[in-house]
Amino acid sequence: MLDSVPESTTSPRILVLAGDGIGPEIVAAARRVLDTVGSFDYEERLVGGASIDELGTPLSDEVLEDCRAADAVLLGAVGGPKWDSTDPDAPRPEQGLLGLRKGLGLYANLRPVKPLAALIDASPLRRDRIEGTDLLVVRELTGGIYFGRKERTATTASDECLYSSEEIDRIARIAFEAARRRAGDGGGGRVTSVDKANVLETSRLWREVVSGIAADYDDVELDHMLVDNAAMQLVSDPSRFDVIVTENMFGDILSDEAAMLTGSLGMLPSASLGGEGPGLFEPVHGSAPDIAGTGVANPLATFLSVAMLFQHGLDRPEDARRIESAVEAALDDGLRTPDLRSGAEGEREAGTAEMTAAVIAAL
Ligand code: NAD
Repeated sequence: MLDSVPESTTSPRILVLAGDGIGPEIVAAARRVLDTVGSFDYEERLVGGASIDELGTPLSDEVLEDCRAADAVLLGAVGGPKWDSTDPDAPRPEQGLLGLRKGLGLYANLRPVKPLAALIDASPLRRDRIEGTDLLVVRELTGGIYFGRKERTATTASDECLYSSEEIDRIARIAFEAARRRAGDGGGGRVTSVDKANVLETSRLWREVVSGIAADYDDVELDHMLVDNAAMQLVSDPSRFDVIVTENMFGDILSDEAAMLTGSLGMLPSASLGGEGPGLFEPVHGSAPDIAGTGVANPLATFLSVAMLFQHGLDRPEDARRIESAVEAALDDGLRTPDLRSGAEGEREAGTAEMTAAVIAAL
């Protein structure tokens, strides 16, 4: 008879997709952070432009299979001018991202926006507007106009926007659950559902379904907001928001707008969740081809994505907090990659390597 069950000694398997542009630089830095926090089995695979060059496709079936078998997927960024083309039949790096989301069933994209104290003055908004902002954008990721039927004649084009009540229900539940978790034991979270119900039929269904399931979350407040109003409120009064839930294209646009509240795209992490398999963790920014290879890419959004990987992918919230605190410590110390410079006293210019070393030292 066994007195005790031996603890599993297998390290979590992390599938690493560095991608293009600054992707390989920031992902290499993130691996150093991961190695400081624990022990992992990594597998590196191609995606995006790098995969088009090597395999003729932005995401191969084999890579998707390998992703499914991992505990979490860490992605850098994809794309660049080399693969820009107006030929609708040419493979595009971004198809790799869409394929990953669809293939892994990742229907929920979570983007927290919380300007760190040391960077408040890097925000384009005045301090009094931005202070107190701590919001989460929950974006539907696998439906709507990006995945609808597309038609093209010589002089016309159309993109269908389709949503089912099931798709709306499951993303809204993620938002309500997140609001509940963020509010903690005291309760009192709030969900703002963003749509265009005065014009779009999909939005009217969206509003109906979200209102319906609010009954299951009576501790969470719900309000509805039209997307044009939400775009204005995000810059005029961002601290009014807690959790924003919205459909794919509105979420794409609003989350980039919210991103700028922090002063730099280089600070924003994201998690894509939902399927049975692993989540996908990646910075919000793109492949920044303008600075690729110059050693100045800000790796912090990728480090914070690693924190989300610990939180949502590996259920290790204490390690997530450790990384977040180490990022704050490096910034409190005055280190700034060029995208974060505000010219304030006490700032010290750092490249990717210096910033990474400072975060690792703080860990
Ligand atoms: P981008 O996010 O790559 O860059 C926008 C600006 O922000 C650039 O000036 C860039 O130098 C700067 N920037 C971005 N990340 C930074 C970082 N970590 N550190 C310092 N500066 C940073 O957006 P873009 O220029 O519109 O797109 C470039 C390529 O990336 C395009 O091919 C686009 O399709 C692709 N893209 C990919 C993703 C993704 O992989 N998730 C997202 C957006 C854009």
